[in-house]
Amino acid sequence: MAAVSLRKVEKTYPNGFKAVHGVDLDVRDGEFMVFVGPSGCAKSTLLRMVAGLESITGGELHIGGRVVNDIAPKGRGIAMVFQNYALYPHMTVYDNLAFGLKLAKTGKAELDRRVRHAAQLLEMEHLLERYPKQLSGGQAQRVAVGRAIVKKPEVFLFDEPLSNLDAKLRAAMRVRLTELHRSLRDAGQPATTIYVTHDQTEAMTMGERICVLKAGVIQQVDTPTALYDRP
Ligand code: ADP
Ligand code: ADP
Repeated sequence: MAAVSLRKVEKTYPNGFKAVHGVDLDVRDGEFMVFVGPSGCAKSTLLRMVAGLESITGGELHIGGRVVNDIAPKGRGIAMVFQNYALYPHMTVYDNLAFGLKLAKTGKAELDRRVRHAAQLLEMEHLLERYPKQLSGGQAQRVAVGRAIVKKPEVFLFDEPLSNLDAKLRAAMRVRLTELHRSLRDAGQPATTIYVTHDQTEAMTMGERICVLKAGVIQQVDTPTALYDRP
């Protein structure tokens, strides 16, 4: 089954610029899909439309079998991780992880269980009492990922999450995020993922399938192996 389906999705910005031209795509349940392409190809416009942060001006977007064109971000079952981690500076890591669940009135025991489980998956149990300014870039990015995990979303959306990290850390985080996706899926949480990057290495090493975009049009959707064989 497709977790996310785009049917002739279009985006025309208020200034009249058409950024997305009739995109059709099925992201399968549990799949790790990467959107890749040069700056300006509309990767982040598409991701923001899936997230509900940008309106859809044509076509239909389905998440979990529902048309969500007019549904607010909160109602879509998605969680998004940004490249600027947007952690709350005055809260500990624990409270950063717990914040969204508190707003959603999650019970204390369940909240604590989810926060500790996310911390364990991301190997950051020892960081829970720290404040964001006491974290390295890679640690802060893990907290940002943890905030998505505790929500147990149907779909994870990543917008260039590693682009602020140095090359070595980026390589380590690629492996970590790929393993995380697998362990969530093995644990029965489908963890469908759409991951946006302009970095071809990132796309080829992380994606189960890769959607190559150019100027708001899909050029190819295929596995890394197939793309490598006929670029
Ligand atoms: P990418 O994420 O691939 O770099 P974007 O989705 O940010 O690309 O942008 C796609 C195209 O849409 C670009 O040409 C960009 O200039 C344009 N664009 C993005 N946001 C707006 C906006 N708010 N108004 C008008 N054009 C925009
Ligand atoms: P990023 O590189 O992180 O995607 P950008 O600098 O491309 O960020 O865009 C920052 C903001 O400016 C976004 O909200 C985007 O929608 C908007 N934007 C980008 N291109 C244009 C444009 N041509 N006209 C108006 N707004 C734009």
